[in-house]
Amino acid sequence: MKVLKIDHIGIAVKNMDEALKLYQDVLGLKLTSTEVVEEQKVKVGFIPVGDSEIELLESTSPDGPVAKFIESRGEGVQHIALRVDNIEQALEELKAKGFRLIDEKPRYGAGKARIAFLHPKGTGGILLEISER
Ligand code: ZN
Repeated sequence: MKVLKIDHIGIAVKNMDEALKLYQDVLGLKLTSTEVVEEQKVKVGFIPVGDSEIELLESTSPDGPVAKFIESRGEGVQHIALRVDNIEQALEELKAKGFRLIDEKPRYGAGKARIAFLHPKGTGGILLEISER
């Protein structure tokens, strides 16, 4: 498994327009596009920062994972995504090392990525995503 870089940081927000006041108006970053991932009940806003991205996550439904996250933990960093060169190989390797996975197989992620989440029980409480694109 080869981890290439921090792909993005996923930040749960209640309202994307509201959050953009910080990222665009104050920090001078640019929202380049948005995408709704129906399966995750989330609208994702992409904000490139150098070689990585901030992804703003706004729930499209009160029962979506991001809405539930905000309900229990409040707005803030929801997950960190590491880009790997080969996601199947990475998952095989993690499984072989006895690592707990949320996704055994890659699934569709925003930005045409293939992603999988690792279980926070094995990562010191951080929701870690691995991503290939
Ligand atoms: Zn992500």
